Amino acid sequence: MSAGFSAQDVKALGKCTFCPKMCRFSCPVSHATASESLTPWGKMLSANSIREGKLPLDEANAAVMWGCSGCFACQPQCKHGNDVPSALTAARALAAEKGLTHPAAGLKAGAQRSTGHPGGLNCAEIAREALPQVTDRPKAPVLLWPGESGWLNQAQEARLAAGVLIRLETEPFHIPRAAPWTTGKTLYDAGFWDDFRAHAPAVAAAIRPYRKIVCLDPADAWMLSVIYPRFRVRVKPAVLTFAAWVNSLSPHGAAGAAPEVLYHDNCLLGRGLNQHDLPRGLLRGLDGESPREFHLKRERSLCCGAGSLLPSTMPETAAAMAREITRVLRESPAAALVNASPACVAHLRASDPAAATRIMSLVEYLHLRLLGG
Ligand code: SF4
Ligand code: SF4
Repeated sequence: MSAGFSAQDVKALGKCTFCPKMCRFSCPVSHATASESLTPWGKMLSANSIREGKLPLDEANAAVMWGCSGCFACQPQCKHGNDVPSALTAARALAAEKGLTHPAAGLKAGAQRSTGHPGGLNCAEIAREALPQVTDRPKAPVLLWPGESGWLNQAQEARLAAGVLIRLETEPFHIPRAAPWTTGKTLYDAGFWDDFRAHAPAVAAAIRPYRKIVCLDPADAWMLSVIYPRFRVRVKPAVLTFAAWVNSLSPHGAAGAAPEVLYHDNCLLGRGLNQHDLPRGLLRGLDGESPREFHLKRERSLCCGAGSLLPSTMPETAAAMAREITRVLRESPAAALVNASPACVAHLRASDPAAATRIMSLVEYLHLRLLGG
């Protein structure tokens, strides 16, 4: 796949251009901005016009491509099942080739290149100082993959996840102690596909010795399962989300009464990997009752705005999308909202600090229930 549109993208762009905007109500970015040009139809029309040379690829026209959080909310509403984020990310790659990337996306991609993490973290130092020593099992068959968001806050999410797995007496596992630290989603989302093409095979080689890779962030499981094959990068280990692995261990012995939780579908776990039932079953098995639900759930769930670099490129829009989620939380009697992505949890907390203590990642919630804190 070269920078630019795949055959599937070209087909989708053509369908969208002549569509009566059937999916327009589903796009959270066009809702938050009240912008016709940021409906899925508007963005795809711009991308197709650029592709056909009817619109110049300049700064103003390239800017439209950043108005997508990669949430896939439009896809179930489309009778063609169009993959809008794929085509828009390909348009970002074309723009990047011409030096027209968004400055904030360029900064993140630059940090990924120079430090191995888009936030500029020193992951080697964090791994050495903050993570439990789980590397004394040379033949561990499982790699626990923190990903971009799992390294934040001194690898807090990875530490809690390791605690849960040790409590459940799972198979021996490792946590990375050397680069690569991320799947390269920032490079992909920012349109720096030459860099991504160099990064992805290095990741595939690093994880090849393992039988399973367990991703703390569903976005990484989606990258390895969906995007790597598109770039013809073979991933040898079985790719699991953390929810799937813990669910397979039939967790039991939760302590005390379960708090009432509101389950918020993560876009890439649900629409991306079709794991809607699995996390609900996990919570039900642990707590003895089903979690509370949003009025829009599963395929129709609301995106919080954390994806596809939106918090960097359109921060006010991304925050408004997050506050739409916390507004529902405020009106709910649930004690806490649970989302499977540590990146979404961090974005929701940052966008509405007053609600932060009622927002938990699935890993945090499992740790609370299984280890009491
Ligand atoms: S994604 Fe489907 S429904 Fe939405 S504008 Fe394109 S063709 Fe129409
Ligand atoms: S993926 Fe989400 S943000 Fe992007 S166009 Fe579709 S509905 Fe809008």
